[in-house]
Parts: sequence; C-alpha cells; structure tokens
Amino acid sequence: MNDLNEFDVVVVGGGPAGLGAACAAAACGRAVGLVDDTPWLGGQIWRGQKGRPWQALEWIERFKACGAKLLDNTSVIATPQRGVLMAEKDGNPCEIRYAKLVLATGARELFLPFPGWTLPGVIGPGGMQSLVKHGWPVKDQRVVVAGSGPLLLAVAAGLRQYGAHVVSVVEQAPRSSVLQFGFSLRSHPSKLWQAARIKMGLLGVPYRCGAWPAKAEGSDNVGSVTLTDGHKTWTEECNLLACGFGLVPNVELPLAAGCELKDGFVQVNEWQATSVTGIYCAGEPTGIGGADCALVEGQIAGYAASGQPAPAESLFILRARWHKFRAALARAFALRPEVKQLATDSTLLCRCEDVTVGQMRQHTNWRDAKLQTRCGMGSCQGRICGAAAKEVLGWGMESVRPPILPARVQSLIVKAK
Ligand SMILES: Cc1cc2nc3c(=O)[nH]c(=O)nc-3n(C[C@H](O)[C@H](O)[C@H](O)COP(=O)(O)OP(=O)(O)OC[C@H]3O[C@@H](n4cnc5c(N)ncnc54)[C@H](O)[C@@H]3O)c2cc1C
Repeated sequence: MNDLNEFDVVVVGGGPAGLGAACAAAACGRAVGLVDDTPWLGGQIWRGQKGRPWQALEWIERFKACGAKLLDNTSVIATPQRGVLMAEKDGNPCEIRYAKLVLATGARELFLPFPGWTLPGVIGPGGMQSLVKHGWPVKDQRVVVAGSGPLLLAVAAGLRQYGAHVVSVVEQAPRSSVLQFGFSLRSHPSKLWQAARIKMGLLGVPYRCGAWPAKAEGSDNVGSVTLTDGHKTWTEECNLLACGFGLVPNVELPLAAGCELKDGFVQVNEWQATSVTGIYCAGEPTGIGGADCALVEGQIAGYAASGQPAPAESLFILRARWHKFRAALARAFALRPEVKQLATDSTLLCRCEDVTVGQMRQHTNWRDAKLQTRCGMGSCQGRICGAAAKEVLGWGMESVRPPILPARVQSLIVKAK
C-alpha cells in the first residue's frame, strides 16, 4: 500500500504540528504518510541536527518508532482532486493519495520593505539563524537584529553564541506591551524559563522597544542601519542586519484545497477540522502560537482524522492554555502603522521582478498590479511580496494557483495529463 504512496492519513509538514499529527494517527493504527519538502524532520524550529532541545529529540524518536512513512524532500505542489496530492520528490513528479489529510504547513517570515532592505547582508532573523546553524560563519560580525516578535531575542542570543557581536536588538512594539507579554508568561513556566535563559545570553546587549529601522545603507553590503522611535533617529554600524516583522502563515496549500480562511488564518473547529470534509489543519496556518501550541493542535488533528475523539478531547484544556499564549503574542507584537509605511516610491517591493512600491501604487489591487507589472511572478511566487503588499497596500491575494512551491515543468505536464 505504502509503495503506492496511498495512506489513510497524509500529513503535510514535518514541524511540531505535523509530527504530533502523524504520531497520533499512527498510534490509532492508521497508515500514515508524512510529507515534508526538506531533508530533515522538525520544521523551522527544530531543523538541523545540532543542539536540538530534548522535546525535539523526543518527538523525532517517537515519530521514527510510530510506523509512519516519511516522504522527505517532497514538495506538495497541487491538489488536483479530492484525495490526491500532486508532489515532487527529489525533482521527480509523484502522486500521494489520502483518505484524510492534515495540513501542517507552518509559517514564513514577514519582510516589510524599507529603503535598503534588499542590500546584501540584510536577512530575515529566522533565515540568518538557519544559515548559521548550517555553518555560515558570523564570528566577529557586527549584527543589528530588528523587527518584531520574540524570535528576535532568540536569534540574537543564538548569533552571540556563534561569536557574532550583536550591536542591539530593536523591537517595534512598545515597551509596555512587551512587559505585559513577559508578565503573561507566568502562566507558562517553560516559556518564562526559556525567556530568562535568552535574556541571560544577551546581557550587555541593548534591547530597544518602540523603535524600528528607517533605512539601511551600504555599497556592496549593508554598512549601517538608521533606526527611529518616531521622534529621534540614530545610526548603528553593522555588517549584517537581521530584520523581520513576525511570521506569515503558509495558507497557500489549504487555500488550494478549498479551505476557508478567517482573518488570514485557516478556519478550524474544535477538532482542527477545516471547512472541507476530511481535511484538518494544525499549527501556524491556524494562528501564530509557537511550537507547543502547534504540537498539541497537531495531535488533536491526528486523533480526529483517525476517528478517535476521546484522546483528542483530552487535549482540549492544554490547547486552550496555548491559545491564550497565542492571543497574548498577537496583542503584544501587533504591528504599528509606521512600520508599514517605511518604503518610499523607489523602494523595491517585489525583489524577484524588480517592481517598486511606486509602480505598485499605480494599481488598485494585487491582481491588476500582477498583470501589469509581473509582481509576484518570480521565484518566490508572491510569498514575500504578496505578504508585504497586504501590509503596505492593504491588498489580499484572491486566489492561489498551482504550483504552490517552485516545480519543474515536467511535473506540471504530468499533472495536466
Ligand atoms: C525561519 C523561521 C525560524 C524560526 N525559528 C524559531 C526559533 O528559533 N524559536 C522558536 O521558538 N520559534 C521559531 N520559529 C517559529 C516556529 O518555527 C514555529 O512556532 C513552529 O515551528 C510551528 O510549527 P509548525 O509545525 O506549525 O510549522 P513548521 O515548523 O514551520 O513546519 C512546517 C513544515 O511544513 C513544510 N511545508 C510547508 N509547505 C509544504 C509543502 N507544500 N510541501 C511539503 N512540505 C511543506 C515546511 O518546510 C516545514 O518543514 C521560526 C519560524 C520561522 C519561519
């Protein structure tokens, strides 16, 4: 059965949510396939072999022992019909069949354009962390970490461990919101402990709240960043600027499968079931809540997809606790209007197709701009500029077209046959 890639439950995404879902469904005796487009398990947070926390090791071991089949290096690129996923494995097209589907596709970083944001050396904090974990040297580099969210502090502490000189961490949320968020962590001792450890690792590094980058400058690489708190501006010299404004849910696959969204997130009921019968969703596409929230949602989805409501229900209280954390996160790090208006008319918005904010402003919606300027038609397929256009211009993407991830023409031809 499994050689045909045909499963009772298929889980897309090998992060905490996907691992939770696959283990739960396999524990119910279902034939489970876990699909991930990377060569490793663990998703964004637990990627890489070195320095994985005990929780990651425990879940990865649990997965290896549960009997589910791992389809790694496999990107799901389309949903041609109910019960069938079109994918590409190691560059070759393949079909995956399911009775029930759990979508656990995670999130990506949000980049907002400002003058100089496309200079070499300006990278998303999560992306920089990932590069460093895989061996990119940052020893003695001067790094400014800016944008929004708790990820900034985690990344800054990690960069320091690898020998970088972290000049400062700059958070756009006001200090009062960040303090309130810190206070709310008292009901999540594990997070409080994690935050305390991170802060210890950043002793001596200024953490400036209520400030954001106005522009980055340099010739062939970023050399400085000008920061502002809305009243005064100052410049810090750096060789690297890690800048990201939180996370955007990866909802393209759920959208392609016909799932309804609410406020930009996949709408699910208490069983993590989407608006499409037989399709469940867990983790960041349903709300940006962190790995613990994703893990518990994933397990609920896995049990529910296997027709086992009792073990799913036993996790509802735990999920409610993590949903409170998720709400506190959204409140504390809500984006201020100023950071959405940093770009000038000549600032690039779509860096794949070299389309400026000024060119985009000549159009009234994403579709019109796309037809006239080719924005969103480059290799990122709108994953970067589409999210930025939503924040900067207030435009939503009305639909999703396959391929959901970059794919070979050969794979698309197979799909069309
Ligand atoms: C770049 C980055 C770095 C982060 N670093 C940290 C950190 O240091 N600390 C922290 O606490 N949190 C971090 N986060 C947040 C953290 O990743 C999430 O809170 C958590 O991983 C959510 O788990 P998830 O299972 O929902 O999603 P993810 O862990 O994102 O897992 C989703 C998986 O699905 C795969 N996928 C998506 N679409 C497809 C498709 N079409 N076909 C096949 N596979 C697909 C992705 O490659 C990924 O492996 C980071 C997030 C990002 C984006």
